[in-house]
Amino acid sequence: MKKINLILLAVIYITACSPQTLATPTLTPLPSETLRPVPTSTITLRPTISFTPTATLEPLGVTFDISSDIPMQDIEEIQTGLELARIYLRDYLGGDISSDFQKELTIRIVATGLGDQSLGGGGNCCTFSRNEMYIFFDVKHMHWARTEKPNLFRALSHEHIKIAVHEYIHAWQSSLGCFRNDYNPLGNWMNEGIAEYIAYDITIQQGIITKANVKIFMYNAAKNTGELGLPLQALEANGLGLVWPGHVGYLAVDYLITESKQRTLSLRLICEQIANGETIDNAFKNVFGITRKDSYVKFAEYIKTLVP
Ligand SMILES: [Zn+2]
Repeated sequence: MKKINLILLAVIYITACSPQTLATPTLTPLPSETLRPVPTSTITLRPTISFTPTATLEPLGVTFDISSDIPMQDIEEIQTGLELARIYLRDYLGGDISSDFQKELTIRIVATGLGDQSLGGGGNCCTFSRNEMYIFFDVKHMHWARTEKPNLFRALSHEHIKIAVHEYIHAWQSSLGCFRNDYNPLGNWMNEGIAEYIAYDITIQQGIITKANVKIFMYNAAKNTGELGLPLQALEANGLGLVWPGHVGYLAVDYLITESKQRTLSLRLICEQIANGETIDNAFKNVFGITRKDSYVKFAEYIKTLVP
């Protein structure tokens, strides 16, 4: 079933949240300077959701389509994720999704356990569809309502917030013009890596998790899913290799940002350049100061430094 789902994704680029169950739950310390684990006891966890916006946001102009049987906690987690994503876009990425785009967008929340059943939705828990202009959450889906312990966050609600941010960021990419259901010029690893990078960076900023532990988690997950066994270039196309490249995508985007002059804002600039007609290769070189091809070589070397 999963294989069929992934094949569908290869045809239609509705984006889905990360397949959490594929990731390793362990935070194995790696003997590396760069990946020094932070003891989990030092992680500050907030018992309740109590995020405060740094300034007032404009009201979100989307339409909410929420089934009557959705627990209030799930709704609040999604709304918190959307709010944190909007604050991050405002403060670090040159602005939120435009109000015109927001007006077209629906946030659909269901509790069927069947996931997104639309063509290309693949039965996934959480998706963004540009064709249908919705962000979709199924709070009974196994990837949302998991009963086992969360594999990175201690509180499941923190993972829900992270997933909501991830999907909102895909909508933002689409609003800027570098992502549609049938058009993914960034390539799959980068498209997913950007959504993961921003989603995790928010949880890091909120003191939910440390960056060191996120990197260890991503490295181990990328290793276990087989992402690390493939060159990054092979993960440009959706579905190729039938692996979701969000873990290695996170590491690659983090590496690029660290090397780039524009830092986080580069994630907006590359999208805008593509929307303005640049090829991905030109946009990549303009924004990151290195050709995409050369960056693959450098990233492969960088990844080796993370190996124990
Ligand atoms: Zn995604």
